[in-house]
Amino acid sequence: MTSISQFIEDAKLAAGNYQRCDHESALCYAVEGVVETAHGWKRLSKPELALFVDAVCDTEGIDSPEISHLRRTGSVIASADIEYHSIEFRGSTVNVGSVLHEIAHLTAGASGHGIVFRNEFVRLVRRHSSVEHAAFLHAVMQGVGLEVAPWQALS
Ligand SMILES: [Zn+2]
Repeated sequence: MTSISQFIEDAKLAAGNYQRCDHESALCYAVEGVVETAHGWKRLSKPELALFVDAVCDTEGIDSPEISHLRRTGSVIASADIEYHSIEFRGSTVNVGSVLHEIAHLTAGASGHGIVFRNEFVRLVRRHSSVEHAAFLHAVMQGVGLEVAPWQALS
């Protein structure tokens, strides 16, 4: 079994692949990729995705966002628009991590990937995906130097 320190090193290296965004965002994307490698995220079809988004938003007490699906072209797989309360997904299936990432932008009211976003993302993963995914996400974020609230505060 690969140790967490190896995953942290992998994430630091992978951050170099995201050259079009700020370093904090690049690290955040890279950490999510490592979670995918280590634990896998459940993949959702379009109908499953709509149900999942509704269930998460209902629990979180926000209106469901306007969802649109576009053909996958570049490396972008999803994006959220806080002002319009909408999320665009690209490609035929989306993983739970990406969905919760985009919803975290909406519930945190943060378009970037700073600490407010990260805390919210980990909290949503813990509540709507699994404790294992959230604990790993949290540990690798800390490992690559992304500040995040203590685990106990994120439930
Ligand atoms: Zn984002």
